[in-house]
Amino acid sequence: MTNSIKTIGILGGGQLGMMLAQAALKLGYRCVFLEDADNAPAALYGQVFKYDELDDFIAASDVFTLEFENTPVKTAKSLASLEHKGGLFPPTNALEVAQNRLAEKALFNELSIDTVPFMAVESLDELQTAAKTLGLPLVLKTSRGGYDGKGQFFIKTIDEIGAAWDELGGAVTGDGGLTDTPAPLIAEGFINFSREVSIIAVRAQDGDISYYPLVENHHTNGILSKTIAPAADADHLTEQAQSNIGKILSHLDYVGVLTLELFVTDSGLIANEIAPRVHNSGHWSIEGAHCSQFENHIRAVVGLPLGDTQVIKPSVMLNIIGTYSDAHLVLAHSGVHLHHYHKDERAGRKIGHITVMTDALDQTVANIEQLLS
Ligand code: AMP
Repeated sequence: MTNSIKTIGILGGGQLGMMLAQAALKLGYRCVFLEDADNAPAALYGQVFKYDELDDFIAASDVFTLEFENTPVKTAKSLASLEHKGGLFPPTNALEVAQNRLAEKALFNELSIDTVPFMAVESLDELQTAAKTLGLPLVLKTSRGGYDGKGQFFIKTIDEIGAAWDELGGAVTGDGGLTDTPAPLIAEGFINFSREVSIIAVRAQDGDISYYPLVENHHTNGILSKTIAPAADADHLTEQAQSNIGKILSHLDYVGVLTLELFVTDSGLIANEIAPRVHNSGHWSIEGAHCSQFENHIRAVVGLPLGDTQVIKPSVMLNIIGTYSDAHLVLAHSGVHLHHYHKDERAGRKIGHITVMTDALDQTVANIEQLLS
């Protein structure tokens, strides 16, 4: 198939699509995108089709992938089944699992991957039962459609159970605001973790798997603000992380980049969620690894051998959130790489990132963080 692929059709047209296209172009492939939002960052790199132009998007593409995990499964399935095309990677079963926190955690447990204790909740009564069974505090989440901490309620006391149900209960009937698809809520036991980490791995069409190092993630107001790559003092966690993500990749017969987010606890790693796509916590790899997550994803999708995931130099990725900072001041520091997403400024929106890769890492990161604050 590799030789007949010229154009990759990507579901979604955000910054992830833009960076996938940057990697694809380097390897000789073009990308087109399926995206309804106006001013999609990826438009700078290829034609953007709206969902009502699906036929034209299909005609323009030789193989399909995605950069947006809430891509409608129905659309994904229809693309995957087109016999005259090269398929959809990752497979739609991965998309289905990743779109439903209950299915995701059930799969983790089926594969003997540790999770927090959890229960499905479909009524106020069931929420009260969950609070008794799991204990308080607990975290109530929509099982579909949540992102960046949205669709979540941390219940600390019995008095808050009613408010939590009032806020999220609508998701059970489809009136919850985040998606139109009715689905039970998930109640999760609250976990005391020391830090949050993620592992990104890529699986090729022949089943070959390569792993990026475990990285440490920091959030501000529920949004990823900083990734430290590799995570410090994490060697003892690497085997468990690789085993976990390796099991998921093989079970799903996955092709492409997959991300697994985990909590670090005294008793090891607890899996939180997967993203069936390239991930913000892997942006450091553009400069910090021999082959970036974006290039490796494209390689997997078109059937090329995977590239080297090893770290060139420790790096720290800082997201630019809300407003752009002065590029002159940022780039006055050496060992700093700026990525601008061509998005309008808006509070809480990821509009760019900076990767710091220098011997004076801590000092330079502190200086850049000051510029971003
Ligand atoms: P999530 O959308 O599942 O990634 O959750 C967003 C954030 O909430 C995570 O990054 C954690 O900081 C926190 N969180 C989520 N689930 C739990 C849990 N069960 N216990 C404690 N903190 C949690």
